[in-house]
Order: sequence, then structure tokens, then C-alpha cells
Amino acid sequence: MPDYKHIYDYTQQVLELISQSHITPETARWVTQETLDGFRDHVNPGFLEYRKSVTLGGLDAAVEWADAGANGFVDVNGKHYIDCLGGFGIYNVGHRHPKVVKAVVDQLNRQALHSQDLLDPLRAMLAKILADLTPGNLQYSFFTNSGTESVEAGLKLARAYQRTKPTILAATKAFHGKSYGSLAGTAKGVFRRPFMPLLPGVRHVPFNDVDMMYKTMQACQMVGEDVGAVLLEPIQGEGGVNIPDDDYLPAVRELCNQFGALLILDEVQTGMGRTGKMFCCEHYDVVPDILCLAKSFGGGVMPAGATIATEAVFSRLFDDPFLHTTTFGGNPLACAAAIANIHVLIEERLPERAAAMGDYMLRGMREAVKGHEGKVVEVRGKGLLMAIEFVDNKVGYEVAKHMFEHGVLVAGTLVNAQTIRVEPPLTIGQAEADRVFEVLAGALASTNVRL
Ligand SMILES: *Cc1c(COP(=O)(O)O)cnc(C)c1O
Repeated sequence: MPDYKHIYDYTQQVLELISQSHITPETARWVTQETLDGFRDHVNPGFLEYRKSVTLGGLDAAVEWADAGANGFVDVNGKHYIDCLGGFGIYNVGHRHPKVVKAVVDQLNRQALHSQDLLDPLRAMLAKILADLTPGNLQYSFFTNSGTESVEAGLKLARAYQRTKPTILAATKAFHGKSYGSLAGTAKGVFRRPFMPLLPGVRHVPFNDVDMMYKTMQACQMVGEDVGAVLLEPIQGEGGVNIPDDDYLPAVRELCNQFGALLILDEVQTGMGRTGKMFCCEHYDVVPDILCLAKSFGGGVMPAGATIATEAVFSRLFDDPFLHTTTFGGNPLACAAAIANIHVLIEERLPERAAAMGDYMLRGMREAVKGHEGKVVEVRGKGLLMAIEFVDNKVGYEVAKHMFEHGVLVAGTLVNAQTIRVEPPLTIGQAEADRVFEVLAGALASTNVRL
């Protein structure tokens, strides 16, 4: 065996770090240096460039360390942040909800992962809960580890079911993940272009345009490439919190029925209470044939996702359950977290809370942007899935930067900061929300339109 001594010693040092709940300034400096070096030399130096430009106070402030209560976290230097990015919608029940943590630890103390051969009980129980929780006749669940896997499973189920209808329609500005199949549904050219050709048969139509979808379905039918499935987010998250007209989804459902296409709803971001109902499609009384979940599905503690389908669609996998599998999907820790997550969402009435706090925050943020009409185009949202749209990328970028400096994390990115997302945990309190309004107003006041 080669001499692994220095690796062994380093792992020892890191294990000791992990076991610490408090961090000294000296250790904080070491952690920061190791993190910067590791990112530069072994993760991806591109992230450092990105962070440097969005962090006013230099890179020291950008290394995270611990959760701080349900709605925030601290960096290695002890600076506190209100989490209005919410892990892009991971932390619906808050950071490290005690009931989710307890369920995972209890399960971990008995069995960590499943045998892969016997029947694992929590998988059956979670699937039963989901059949009850989801609308309509959604009945069978396939469990995954991430959003893109949930969409992959949805696409594969649809293809297996619709053998003579090869076309899949997605929408412009959609985001469905970055593995090859999901990426075909994702609409952003910069993410797709380097990896072409993608999954064949996927076409995009403008979001919130029923007439275009009808014409496309008709055209596909005429040329013998019928639409077998429509893949949509009920509200587009990554694309900038685009909320369709109230009659859009019902009309799409009608079109799917008319043309014999399946409706796949990607609720990876909108699901689990985020928009003010348990599932966003419930706002519109629309039931999909396939529902994709992830992000907050694991309660902000475990990576977990699910693809839930009707019996008719899912039954293509009955004869051969090995047609689509994953080693870790639906593992006992993930199932324990997901069950506790649903328990907490119901117990704390978090979907209703998201609706009420969403109204409060929309009002507060609209108030905060008053007098800055030259910089802000619109503040919009449904429940606690919200966005601020700026006149251009630069203004949004500056505002996000200032908010970060003042301890409020929002989702402004280099790629598109013209719209920044605000999606805090559904547990966010009024005092924290008020602080967000204050910081937003301050950020706008110190941002010039002509940069
Ligand atoms: C984040 C997201 C995904 C991808 O999830 P990953 O876990 O990052 O693979 C898919 N669809 C939607 C709507 C998302 O917001």
C-alpha cells in the first residue's frame, strides 16, 4: 500500500473539524484558506471568481459554517444571514427542523441504507402517504435523489407509455435540471448548447401561450410525430418566477386530453407548500399524469425526490420493475426525512403560512421599492416563491450584492440578476421579513441606475 500518511492525517484533521460545534478565529482562518485553495485547485476556480464579484467584503465572508435557527445561517466568521434564497427552495420547513432531524437520526441509529434486496418498509409507507397527499389519481411513486432524476424518471415513464407519440413539449424559460434528458427540457441555450445533440423529440413552445401549444400539437400530429407528453413547471422558478394566467394550466390539461398527451408537472421547486398550497397545481385544479418532486421533499435535511404517476402510466414498469432503478433513491434516511417533512408541513400549516407570509412580503417589498421605479420593473410572487425584476442585470446584481453584505441572501446570479428570487423558508417570521424590506430599501437607495 502506498504511503497514505499525509492523507490520513488530513482526514483526521477534517474529522475533528466536523465534530466541533464552535469555531475559533484561528480555525476559521484555516478553514477559509483550505476552502479557497480547494476550490481554486480541485473544485472549480470559476466559483471563486463568481463569489469574489458578489461579495463586497472580500472572500473571507463567503465560507459558510452552520445553520442559525430555522431561517438563517452563519459563515465561518460568525456573520449572520437571513436565508431568502432558501437553497433555491430546499428549506421549506426551515433549516434543520428538529422533527426532520430526529426522524433521520432515529433511522440512522437503526439502519442507514437498505439491503437493496428485501422490501424496505419506509418506501412503502412514504408512497402510500404521497398517494393520499397528491391530487387526483396519482398513485405510484418512484423515488430519486434529486430534481433532475425525478424529471428523468418522468420522461422515461412518458416515453414508455406513449410508444407511438414521440414528441415531448416543454416551454421556453423552463428549468428541469441538467442531466441529459432533463436538459433537453430545460430551455436555456447557454446550458444546452455545449452538450448538443440532446434527447431527440423535445420541442419548446412559449410559456403561457395556449394557442401556440395547440398549433404545435396539431402540426406534430399532421407530420406523424404526435405529442406524447407536455413537461411544465406550473410556475417557472429558475426562469424568473413566471406566473402564468389562471386559465393556462387548465387549458393545457384540456389540450393534453384532446391530443392524448400526458401532462408532466415539474413541481420540484413549487411543491411542498411553497406557493401557498401543498402543490402549486392545486391553485388551478389541475391534476397531472406525472408529478415530479425534489428540493424541499427531503425536509431540508436529506437529498430526496419522487416521481408520482397514475396507475395507468406507472404500470409499464410493473412487468419489469428493473426497467428504471437507482441504488440510493428512496433510501431509508431519505424516506424518514420525507415523511417527517410532510408531517411538519401539515402540523405547522406551512402551505397556509406561505400564502399569508407571501402576501405580507409582497406588500412589504412593493412598499420598499416605491420611489425606485427607474430601477425596479416589478415585484411578483405566489406564496413564498417571489421575485424582484429590475430594469437590467447590473442593477439587480448591485442590489443582490448589497443585500448579501447586509446579511440577506437572495438568489441573484451572474447569469441573470435582472430578476432575483426571494424564496425564504416557509417558517420566516415577521421581524425577519421586516428586516428584509429594510435591507432591500437600503440596497436600492445606494444603487445607481447608470453604473
Ligand atoms: C432545481 C430544479 C430542478 C433540478 O433539481 P436538481 O436537484 O438540481 O437536479 C428541476 N426542476 C425544477 C423546477 C427545479 O427548480
